[in-house]
Amino acid sequence: MIILVLNCGSSSLKYQVLDMKSDNDYSLLAKGLVERIGEPMGIYNHQLPGKDKFSVEKPVPNHTVGISKVLELLTDKSLGVISSLKEIEAVGHRVAHGGEYFSGSAAIDDEAISKIEKCAELAPLHNPANLLGIRAVQSLMPEIPQVAVFDTSFHQTIPDYAYMYAIPYEYYQKYKIRRYGFHGTSHKYVAKKACNLVGMDISNSKIITCHLGNGSSITAIKNGRSIDTSMGFTPMEGLVMGTRSGSVDAGVVTFLEEKEKLSAAEINTILNKKSGLLGVSQASSDMRDIESGAGSGNANAALAQEMLFYGIRKFIGAYAAAMGGLDMIVFTGGIGENSSTTREQACEELEFLGVDFDKDVNRAVRGKDVILSTPSSKVKVVAVTTNEELVIAQDTMNIVKNK
Ligand code: ADP
Repeated sequence: MIILVLNCGSSSLKYQVLDMKSDNDYSLLAKGLVERIGEPMGIYNHQLPGKDKFSVEKPVPNHTVGISKVLELLTDKSLGVISSLKEIEAVGHRVAHGGEYFSGSAAIDDEAISKIEKCAELAPLHNPANLLGIRAVQSLMPEIPQVAVFDTSFHQTIPDYAYMYAIPYEYYQKYKIRRYGFHGTSHKYVAKKACNLVGMDISNSKIITCHLGNGSSITAIKNGRSIDTSMGFTPMEGLVMGTRSGSVDAGVVTFLEEKEKLSAAEINTILNKKSGLLGVSQASSDMRDIESGAGSGNANAALAQEMLFYGIRKFIGAYAAAMGGLDMIVFTGGIGENSSTTREQACEELEFLGVDFDKDVNRAVRGKDVILSTPSSKVKVVAVTTNEELVIAQDTMNIVKNK
């Protein structure tokens, strides 16, 4: 089954075309990125595996035009991978927020669209963009089945005492203010993949998955179900991230608003775009720069990375306690897959939990699926690559087949 996977942002869209024979037997046919949608000049980047990237500058006034051009590229004689659009059997969308409506991926129909619209208040930057993509496909390929895969749905198993904030209950009733968590597709996928790697039964396991990228979150997965996660009502909570602050005392927000005379939008920009590794280092949001800065004696870069390492260790300790034990720690995401320093520091002094970390093995690992703990380690530690597009394609295939 050939599936088009779309991840639509407000001014960009990413796509992949996968040929799915089964969940684990698949091939990537093409992928690409359309940027600067709505700006005077846009850019299309299109790539076939093992071939040079094709890029062309052209205005992209809206998502429908962008997707229409992508469909042209996919059927192009030299750049394409299919002879006719009829070969695409389904479209899977990454959708940021499913609120309390979706505890799994869902076929897109009028009811699903109306629920995704209702969740737009919770993800004002993302859900409207995701809907633009869904509507563009509806107008360009009206017959094709579409499926929504949510960043939040895996975390719908978190119990109320872990997802509630202790603010007046009426705000939960009025606005559904609670922890939702994000990166759900990644946490679910890497937990399963890691279990396969070490031969662990996911339905009888206590796993902590650390998705560390520009945005980072940590999840406690007990017997295959998310029971807590570090991101909250928005992706701002939890760990120090590239440009997001992670958790801060809410008192800091009101203090800063008063002292600096900041509007809600301004403080939001500071906490989302100017904080985290960038804010503390005053240099870069990119972990590679932070590591090299720290290595060459930049004190702020060293502080920023130490704050991240300490944060990860703290969550590991907390989530081991929340699950009443720990069987495995999983690292993924751009930092988790590639930064041996982060993995080593995150596991520093975790021997008391039963972690016996193999520093030599760890040092050589970049972008691969590898066991990083010694054979006798009670708690397994692994690095595995994530693949959110694959999960979207798998769920899309399974939902469409079962309809
Ligand atoms: P996103 O959250 O946008 O998907 P990624 O998962 O691609 O981001 O992660 C991006 C982060 O991964 C950046 O901070 C980048 O510096 C970091 N990263 C990538 N490669 C390395 C590396 N070799 N060493 C350290 N950090 C790395």
